[in-house]
Amino acid sequence: PRKYDVLIIGAGSGGISVAASLLKRRGTLDIAIVEPRDIHYYQPGFTLVGAGVFQPEVTQRNMEEVIPEGVTWLRGAVAEFNPERDEVILEDGARCSYTTLIVSPGLKLDWEAVQGLPETIGKNGVTSNYRYDLASYTWKLVQEMKRGKALFSQPPMPIKCAGAPQKVMYLSADHWRRNGVLDDIEIDFSLAGNVLFGVQDYVPALMDYVERYGIALNFSHNLVKVDGNDKVATFRVTEGEQTRLVEKEFDMLHVCPPQTGLDFIRASSLADAAGWVEVDPATLQHVRHGNVFGLGDACSTPNAKTAAAVRKQAPVVAMNVLSVLDGQTPAAVYDGYGSCPLTVEKGRIVLAEFLYGGKVAPSLPTWMLDGKKATRAAWLMKERLLPPLYWQGMFRGREYLAKPRMTFQKIGGE
Ligand code: FAD
Repeated sequence: PRKYDVLIIGAGSGGISVAASLLKRRGTLDIAIVEPRDIHYYQPGFTLVGAGVFQPEVTQRNMEEVIPEGVTWLRGAVAEFNPERDEVILEDGARCSYTTLIVSPGLKLDWEAVQGLPETIGKNGVTSNYRYDLASYTWKLVQEMKRGKALFSQPPMPIKCAGAPQKVMYLSADHWRRNGVLDDIEIDFSLAGNVLFGVQDYVPALMDYVERYGIALNFSHNLVKVDGNDKVATFRVTEGEQTRLVEKEFDMLHVCPPQTGLDFIRASSLADAAGWVEVDPATLQHVRHGNVFGLGDACSTPNAKTAAAVRKQAPVVAMNVLSVLDGQTPAAVYDGYGSCPLTVEKGRIVLAEFLYGGKVAPSLPTWMLDGKKATRAAWLMKERLLPPLYWQGMFRGREYLAKPRMTFQKIGGE
């Protein structure tokens, strides 16, 4: 099989950003990227599609347009890894070989794990912003809803963009408030975990909105079944050692699907016990294979699974891959940065930014933008600045504010 300097798995946020970053640093590299889909999605835009702020089309681009010039696109899906032989095997049986491998295929949205969900999603008032084609259905349902019960679910962590299941709820509630129907709509947020948001500093600002919109919060509620015809959702509720099933009727149900590592990752020797690509949290180098790296949602690292995290991870992986190609020890370090712009109303955002361990880490000084409050500045950033930062910044290897720290002391490791 043909051998590439760098073989990248997945042309999502991670794969494209790291390819661009590598080429910017060393234009002579022979890079290939394996990707089965023709369309690349800007998933952070789905929340705004579900609220009627973005047209769906602005969140998608043809794969040809986003794969950097000079990178070979291998259309297909990886089925198996063979890290001992520096080879991957595609679903059609083709083999590719590499000097260094970067794994960034994202994660699995496990719709099947909720009984009845695959049959009813996209109709009967059951929707999800986690899929491109359904985000516009969310907006349709929100506009049509004038009274009744709106139910929002959130599965156990980790999930990508942990704030997304509640962002859609606040934006929907805000629409109903502006249209004078909020008092006639009962809103229920049923979540598997027992906190509203993983980083406590942002919870007070979010609770203000929970109260303002009259939202009923139900912790330790895990969605296990949806009956679309009868419009009933069933949750497994945990109370101490006990569990019981609770049925809830709904007129509209927004589901965030359970999320796991992809099957082909789980089945491979690259995975940890939970099915994620097992990398060092600092260098993003695989813990067992020195010429393999990972970034994005597929990784075992305990950061918030976001495109914001990918923005900081891409230069770290690019620099460390170059070190390995040059026979040196990886020295660039990722600090766990992730960010979640919580859209609490149309025009205002609580901007959570934090590192490993939930350490709050704002990019801007508080006098410019206080992330713990709902601000217009953060909304403008999300609506106007972040899309171009993604397409023209991350995807072209322009790394504003993303320069990695260099160290020879691993953090998070020993
Ligand atoms: P992806 O971008 O999902 O890309 C993975 C790629 O790998 C895909 O193109 C896929 O086709 C490909 N692939 C899969 N299997 C294979 C295979 N076998 N072989 C080869 N290729 C394969 N992030 C933020 O920063 N801010 C936000 O506000 C935000 N909001 C979000 C809202 C929603 C509703 C969703 C769904 C996500 C949101 N995110 C947000 C998260 C963000 O989109 C992801 O964290 C980011 O896209 C992760 O990048 P990735 O490259 O790991 O995965």
